[in-house]
Amino acid sequence: MNKKQTPLHSSFSTLSTNDLLQFDKDNVWHPYTSMSAPLPTYMVDRADGVHIHLASGEQLIDGMSSWWSVLHGYNHPKLNAALVEQSAKMSHVMFGGLTHQSAITLCEKLIRLTPTGLDKVFLSDSGSVAVEVAMKMALQYQHAVAAKNATKLTKTKLLTVKNGYHGDTFAAMSVCDPVTGMHQIFEQVLMQHYFAPPPQCKFGEAWQLEDAVELSRLFAQHHHEIAAFIIEPIVQGTGGMRFYHPEYLKTCRALCDQYNVLFIADEIATGFGRTGKLFACEWADISPDIMCLGKTLTGGYITLAATLCSEHIANTISQGEAGCFMHGPTFMGNALACAVANASIDLLFENNWQQQVADIEKQLIQDILPLNCHHRVVDARVLGSIGAVECKQSVNVAAIQKRFVELGVWIRPFGQLIYIIPPLITTAAQLTTLVNAIAEVLNDDNCFTTN
Ligand SMILES: *Cc1c(COP(=O)(O)O)cnc(C)c1O
Repeated sequence: MNKKQTPLHSSFSTLSTNDLLQFDKDNVWHPYTSMSAPLPTYMVDRADGVHIHLASGEQLIDGMSSWWSVLHGYNHPKLNAALVEQSAKMSHVMFGGLTHQSAITLCEKLIRLTPTGLDKVFLSDSGSVAVEVAMKMALQYQHAVAAKNATKLTKTKLLTVKNGYHGDTFAAMSVCDPVTGMHQIFEQVLMQHYFAPPPQCKFGEAWQLEDAVELSRLFAQHHHEIAAFIIEPIVQGTGGMRFYHPEYLKTCRALCDQYNVLFIADEIATGFGRTGKLFACEWADISPDIMCLGKTLTGGYITLAATLCSEHIANTISQGEAGCFMHGPTFMGNALACAVANASIDLLFENNWQQQVADIEKQLIQDILPLNCHHRVVDARVLGSIGAVECKQSVNVAAIQKRFVELGVWIRPFGQLIYIIPPLITTAAQLTTLVNAIAEVLNDDNCFTTN
């Protein structure tokens, strides 16, 4: 259907699901999807609890938490009420010169719950922006330090590890894995940073000192140029659900201290209990200098992110040349988002998240680890409420997705990885359905590519 044949929007209310899907296919971009040969999309009518209800009538158990964001389920009465209550006061006011209770309450909670030393909060719109903010904080900090000491500014680059993922905007992309992030396409415009090999020593295995040797070498060789080191603590998520050893994270912290490099922890995926600790940094008992939060922050309701930093960083930036931090999104501190984030964090504790995650982990260990015996599986692993099955072949996304929908679950694998990260309210029976569905597709050749 070309543009001229596109039906007028005035008639859209009378269109069938198939017509709407056709329009979607012809005109609407989806994440990381081709416009000329798009993967199929499924029309959702509504969602509640752990269920996504499709327009075609299927009721699917959600294994993805809408990309790690949903904690307490969809259409939650308390989260809905928080939105309604806030919207009766105001949905949004500008954050320049104005402030409000929902934002203040949220920042107080974040300061109290995150590792010690993170005392200043910058609210923004999305995870990628929170990473941009973190990188800019580090660069502006180093600029201010150099100016104060009357030395030449040399610390203008970042150091990170391969297999990382930090978002899709340009600065965030520049610290994503160079291969999966397709850096070659954007070579001319991307900032060039330093990449260490990814941590190899797995979570739960014996620590191998050699794992951080190359990282240490890069610190020693380039620290004069390095403003900050950025990493996803404990779980490299989008880079392959790799769970690595807490000693690696401890070593990163020590190297940052030794070489006067700021430590940025990207907890956008791991924050709020997912790994079994409230924040994954706690596994290594470390505090970063800067921390990024997003995804689960509003329980999956609205986009909101936060970047926290130490008082020292905030003061150094504020006393620098600009006299302020050079950032201020239009929707900074959005009241609806802050209100629902407050309600979601309260629910986390009311619902005893530690027990919820422990129950999910226990069952995933029991049900997912045996898949290691399957001929198609390279490695099946579990940490907290995350279960991952790494396969020998890449999945055929269209085919496997269709099969999962037939099996009554919503699981969206990528590459060679089938993973679940279910909402914390998922029951034992629902988890069984999710894992059985994975076991089922592993036996289906059509769900995998042949090479
Ligand atoms: C998802 C993610 C981001 C990006 O967040 P968006 O809200 O998609 O911009 C950044 N870092 C990590 C670790 C993530 O998982």
